[in-house]
Amino acid sequence: MIPQGFDFQHLKSYVSIEMVLAAKGLLPFLRKKGGRIIGPCPLHHGDNPHAFVVTLTKDLWHCFTRCDAGGDVVELVRRLDALTYPQAAAYLATLAGVSPKPPAPPPKKPAPLPRFNPVYLYPYIPFLINKGIHHETAARFGIGSLRGPRSYQNSVLVPLHDIKGNPLGYATRFIKGYSSYQTMGKWQFPNGIAKKELLFNFHRCRPHLGDCLVVVECPWGVLRLTQLDIPAVALLGIHLSDFQRALLALVPRVILLMDGDQAGRNATDRIYDVLSPFTDVRRVKLPPDTDPDDHTGIRLRAMLEPFLP
Ligand SMILES: [Zn+2]
Repeated sequence: MIPQGFDFQHLKSYVSIEMVLAAKGLLPFLRKKGGRIIGPCPLHHGDNPHAFVVTLTKDLWHCFTRCDAGGDVVELVRRLDALTYPQAAAYLATLAGVSPKPPAPPPKKPAPLPRFNPVYLYPYIPFLINKGIHHETAARFGIGSLRGPRSYQNSVLVPLHDIKGNPLGYATRFIKGYSSYQTMGKWQFPNGIAKKELLFNFHRCRPHLGDCLVVVECPWGVLRLTQLDIPAVALLGIHLSDFQRALLALVPRVILLMDGDQAGRNATDRIYDVLSPFTDVRRVKLPPDTDPDDHTGIRLRAMLEPFLP
């Protein structure tokens, strides 16, 4: 019996069987054919190449041989690692980047301005212009500076979304002086939002999950690559979380384009080691101490071109 207090329907709306198979490193052993994923059963570890079938439209699996059983993504996760329902909920929640518990009912009296309400963000700021980001691109991503409250005038605000594209609030980064192009300190995230549960721009990249994604550190790199029609996501730092790894495992090819400083170089090698059992990973080495946004569009394209499908 499924215990109360877990909203599996909510979790299933985020995590598919394919995502779980990718996160577990099982996709390379299976093949995708006509709306189905077929291969040897990962549950009984048989070698019949037709035993295990996932019907993608229904998001259901079945093993037609030894197990003679099937079910949804929850059932798969439970059987793969002999998990209890609460453990399965926790695992799916990690992959989804959401809470395993259903969202709390809205309070009777609305809390005063929990995160930012929709605000007009001013995209014409020197910081973005210096990075070669067109104001149309910034406006499309909803990125800019707040003109109102003084405390946010010297910062740039970046809207965050979950993997389905639901808004989560804004990440903010302080700018060293209004007309400068340098940031100060670390990213600030809204209360309750953990960086490890974010992969910036992933929701917009869903149509490209079948081919290739570029991974950068900062949203600025994502915006620059978007201007070149190259799909990209940002880690918002140099660490790859389990959640981010699971999402990137879905993509057949991942190109790492981390910053050219020592931290970025080390991160590239670390992430390469973690990701390469799951997918085809390529590394682009930027010139020392440069970020993707230090380079012209032509140069960026030339660096990435050999690795793009
Ligand atoms: Zn089986």
